Amino acid sequence: MIKWIGLFFALVVLSAPLIWQIARTAEPGATATATPPATVDANTVAALGAEIEALKQDVQALRSRVDGLDSRTAIGLSAASQARAPRSQPQAAPPSRSGDTPQADGLRNSFDQIVLIGDRRNANEGLTVASPSFLRNTFGLPRPDLTQKCQPMSNPRLRALLSTEDVGPIRVRMLKPAIASLRKVFAEVQAFEPELYDRLASSGSLCVRLIRGSSSFASAHAYGLAVDINIGGALDNFADGKTQLGLILMADFFHSEGWIWGAGFGREDSMHFEVSREKIQEWRELGLL
Ligand SMILES: [Zn+2]
Repeated sequence: MIKWIGLFFALVVLSAPLIWQIARTAEPGATATATPPATVDANTVAALGAEIEALKQDVQALRSRVDGLDSRTAIGLSAASQARAPRSQPQAAPPSRSGDTPQADGLRNSFDQIVLIGDRRNANEGLTVASPSFLRNTFGLPRPDLTQKCQPMSNPRLRALLSTEDVGPIRVRMLKPAIASLRKVFAEVQAFEPELYDRLASSGSLCVRLIRGSSSFASAHAYGLAVDINIGGALDNFADGKTQLGLILMADFFHSEGWIWGAGFGREDSMHFEVSREKIQEWRELGLL
């Protein structure tokens, strides 16, 4: 909402000279009504055209800046930036155990904060969840005799793709294309949110079992296509509509890489990230799955 208000005002401000120009060209009065439109010469039209083009580019540049700021401001990361700002000032307080300034700790701790997830139903816009039936039709079950407990994967096609690897801050056991994709996600986080990267921990990846309450379906975790992440070791409460601030930031990085965020599920599961149906289809077309 704030984004659109911002864009609207930016448009008004940017287009003010153009509107003034047009108003002046079409000035009302005795001469204007008597003068045919042909008096607007080609040079004026060309100049106006160039001006419109320049304005378009300005708006586009503003739009991308607003998009970039949007997720950060929406979750109150301005508080984190404030914590970052006074780092260079002398501090009376003693340094923390880790040797960092209290401000650095403040920034890190802000990622742990529990906040309400805004508009979680639209968190996965443009992506489709790979449903349990889609996964079963695509790969077959990860093992025929699924129970409520995690067991080894026996499906030969999936087993051949399974690997246990470090993907940056965590170690996962997942299908190889998902591992490569996770590496990209974490590399981005490391580059753009290094303090958040330092706080990331795993709450689990592969677990071959039935979905709770189901007798024949397995979740993305059972296929090695999902990972649970937490900030600083704190487990997220299931289905409370809230999450750790850092996970909201993580959701943006995952979304760009084609992963679904569990915050958008009917029963909110915000530490959960899984590969979207679109991504699975893309990897199949590339012969990776
Ligand atoms: Zn999960």
